[in-house]
Amino acid sequence: MADNCLFCRIVAGEIPADVVHETGRVLAFRDITPKAPVHVLVIPKDHYENAAALAAADPGLAGEVVQVAGAVAAKEGVAESGYRLIFNAGPDSGQEVFHVHGHVLGGQPLGALTGRG
Ligand code: AMP
Ligand code: ZN
Repeated sequence: MADNCLFCRIVAGEIPADVVHETGRVLAFRDITPKAPVHVLVIPKDHYENAAALAAADPGLAGEVVQVAGAVAAKEGVAESGYRLIFNAGPDSGQEVFHVHGHVLGGQPLGALTGRG
């Protein structure tokens, strides 16, 4: 567990989360300020700063995170209508929590890929 990491604390059960899916190594829970009707965060239980660091250290676990994102989309009923899976990394992306997380967004047309400003 990384010091002072919000998502490590959620994994440890120190901060509550609305969990929608869980495997031995991956946790999926609802974003606290949803940006779409479906907005779920998918994280490895182990701490890595971003998707590239995760994939470099443990490609299998990176694959499992993406697999769980797909399972969440199915569970939330957006696998057919479509969804977006976003991993922010670094300042220009607006990354706020430095424990890798995939945003599963769906339930409405999601518009253009990037918004400026
Ligand atoms: P990012 O900007 O990619 O780092 O995304 C961080 C996300 O974490 C944001 O969408 C926040 O709304 C979300 N978030 C922050 N605190 C919590 C929390 N306690 N439980 C669930 N989601 C959270
Ligand atoms: Zn962490």
